[in-house]
Amino acid sequence: MLVMTIESSCDETSVALIEDGKRILANAVASQIPIHRRYGGVVPELASRNHIRDIHQVLNEALDTAGLTLQDVEGIGVTAGPGLVGSLLVGIETARALAFALDKPCVGLNHLEGHLTAVLLEGDRVQNPTFPYLGLIVSGGHTDLYVVRGLGDYELLGRTRDDAAGEAFDKVAKMLGQPYPGGVAIDRLASTGNPKALDFPRPMWTRKNLDFSFSGLKTAVAQHLDAHGIPEGQALSDLCASFQEAIVDVLLMKALTACKAHNLTRLVLSGGVACNSRLRTRAAQDCNAQNVELFVAPPTLCTDNAAMLGPIAEHYLRQEGSTHFVGHAIRAQSNMPLGQTERAPART
Ligand code: ATP
Ligand code: MG
Ligand code: FE
Repeated sequence: MLVMTIESSCDETSVALIEDGKRILANAVASQIPIHRRYGGVVPELASRNHIRDIHQVLNEALDTAGLTLQDVEGIGVTAGPGLVGSLLVGIETARALAFALDKPCVGLNHLEGHLTAVLLEGDRVQNPTFPYLGLIVSGGHTDLYVVRGLGDYELLGRTRDDAAGEAFDKVAKMLGQPYPGGVAIDRLASTGNPKALDFPRPMWTRKNLDFSFSGLKTAVAQHLDAHGIPEGQALSDLCASFQEAIVDVLLMKALTACKAHNLTRLVLSGGVACNSRLRTRAAQDCNAQNVELFVAPPTLCTDNAAMLGPIAEHYLRQEGSTHFVGHAIRAQSNMPLGQTERAPART
């Protein structure tokens, strides 16, 4: 099936064309990072306005890249949540209008389910995992551990009790006067730093539960800055490397504990923080040492993009059988449980 997927949950406007739930024919992304950078984070009102400005251009770019027309599209999948409601609505309304005009099925999808299954897409360097696998979502708003038994079949094992890993990167970067998105800045600075220079806490360093907590680590960095001021040069790199190491240690310890506890031999890292170079290197080492196979999508499929919705879009559209669903009823949901889709009723 040739499916068009649309993502606009935060500050990336993206449209992809995916064949058979795995072949990426196009994945156009317009990022609003430069727009939000001057405010130090995403401004929801600006995000929705810029989605409206960009969506048609991005859609046309995807069709041009794939050499296709709207008439070739056999189904549509769109992020329905979680995310910023004003941003989500732009993608949803675009999908609904297209589904109605083309008389094609349309399904509202969960953004996190997209992150978790992006690794099932075909790619030059990606070898696809088989089910079941342990999926760690590390993104701007989430740090969740799931057993993935199949598409649509997930069990939550643990999650953050306060800040998400990406949020901790972004907040600490802000304290250090680094530009949004902070994870990218810290990754770059940390590359020349000593991860053992400062001894930051490893929150929830216990194998007894699989939950995370990152607000205490953020406070420890704030207290260090209060006492010593904002470092520069090598000291700044050392601080970034030490902070990053604390996050990486906790993420990998919990993920590998979960693999062991649930007899899983495959680990999938997903979400924007999965771009982190230290996390990728350390994950490869630690997984190798524990005989766990590691799968991480290329960075462009880890940050927000529409292609990551391809596998679940195909899955849920096929579940609908031959019935056509047209998107009148897809609602934007700021919170949306995993495994749930927003289905639209058939046109009467
Ligand atoms: P969610 O998916 O939870 O709704 P989101 O969509 O805003 O949140 P993503 O786009 O998946 O999040 O990821 C963005 C996050 O990834 C930001 O917090 C950003 O700082 C972080 N990030 C991106 N690149 C890196 C990197 N190299 N190192 C660490 N963090 C990174
Ligand atoms: Mg983003
Ligand atoms: Fe995301």
